[in-house]
Amino acid sequence: MAHTDPPDLSLTDAHYDAFRDALIAWYAHRKRDMPWRRTDDPYRIWLSEVMLQQTRVNQAQPYYERFVAAFPTVEALADADLDDVLRQWEGLGYYARARNLHKAARRVVDVFGGRFPDTYEAVCTLPGVGAYTAAAVLSIAFERPHAVLDGNVIRVLTRVFAIDAEVGSTRTRCRLQTLADALLDPTRPGDFNQAMMELGATVCTPTAPPCPRCPVRTVCRAFADGAPEAYPVKKKKAPVPHYDIAVGLVFDGDCLLIQRRPEDKMLGGLWEFPGGKREPGEPIEEACRRELREELGIEVEIESLFGKVSHAFTHFKITLYAFRCRIRIGTPQPQDGVPMRWVPIAELADYAFPRANRRLIETLIERRQNPTLFDG
Ligand code: SF4
Repeated sequence: MAHTDPPDLSLTDAHYDAFRDALIAWYAHRKRDMPWRRTDDPYRIWLSEVMLQQTRVNQAQPYYERFVAAFPTVEALADADLDDVLRQWEGLGYYARARNLHKAARRVVDVFGGRFPDTYEAVCTLPGVGAYTAAAVLSIAFERPHAVLDGNVIRVLTRVFAIDAEVGSTRTRCRLQTLADALLDPTRPGDFNQAMMELGATVCTPTAPPCPRCPVRTVCRAFADGAPEAYPVKKKKAPVPHYDIAVGLVFDGDCLLIQRRPEDKMLGGLWEFPGGKREPGEPIEEACRRELREELGIEVEIESLFGKVSHAFTHFKITLYAFRCRIRIGTPQPQDGVPMRWVPIAELADYAFPRANRRLIETLIERRQNPTLFDG
């Protein structure tokens, strides 16, 4: 079973037509009901595509509904403060998506008069919009013939055509895009793209796909070979690194010290407790003291370990150690103009925090309501 050739484009037009018709007929009956499938508003379709890039449908849906309620139009999003946008996004992760949405909404209003652009070149000038998002929005909202290529579509294509080239390479991606473009139904590009993604998400799944009930099984080579899970071919993943992070819970009465992360950094624009990464061989308490010295110019005494939270990002994992701290020397002075605030515990809910920090805040609130737990 060696298929080392480029993607097979030798199927006849009749095969292509059979593939499209079977796929679209299946989609018409089996598509899942989702709020963004009940609108033709390009703003809402764009928002859903951005949310779904790194988030599962079930997780994205309540965020989508909340976001649309808060910012029902592109103008409303453009008018909003970034803090409010991030607050609505909190918990979804990949916060650059929210920052770019906000910037792009402002561009739609300022440059395109509030009308979402309908050409590939214009859509690609919006911050955060790449080939996938442009093709998805243009095909679904405007019926423009641009084929999408995401993880689900790649899985379907590599299986149907038995493409065993490594899918991470640029060369293979270009070939797959050519193939997707050739397969696209030019008369129904929006439905076709959604059907391909839906098939990958619900039938042509990464493991144990139920091929006998797949609508395109009659033209699928991987099914004919009895080896769907051999595709797509991916490079072995490197082990995920792990970092220990020490943060300080610095109190002034009932208020806690928080800082805002620079916008150009990971989790940019979110608030957090001051701290940072433990250096090799460094005791975790010392990492906390050093980070607060470097970030805020203060010397602190560690009173106790307040809590420990583990969290996994896409490319690394962290364990966050939070220490209750008392300032011994100095007054906190943020370095590099990073915004800093003293905030009552009850008001921390008004700020957008990364997930691990939010879990600490939930514990803080819980212990505050039950003071016997507070020094735990
Ligand atoms: Fe995927 Fe199986 Fe359908 Fe082929 S027949 S596209 S492997 S689900």
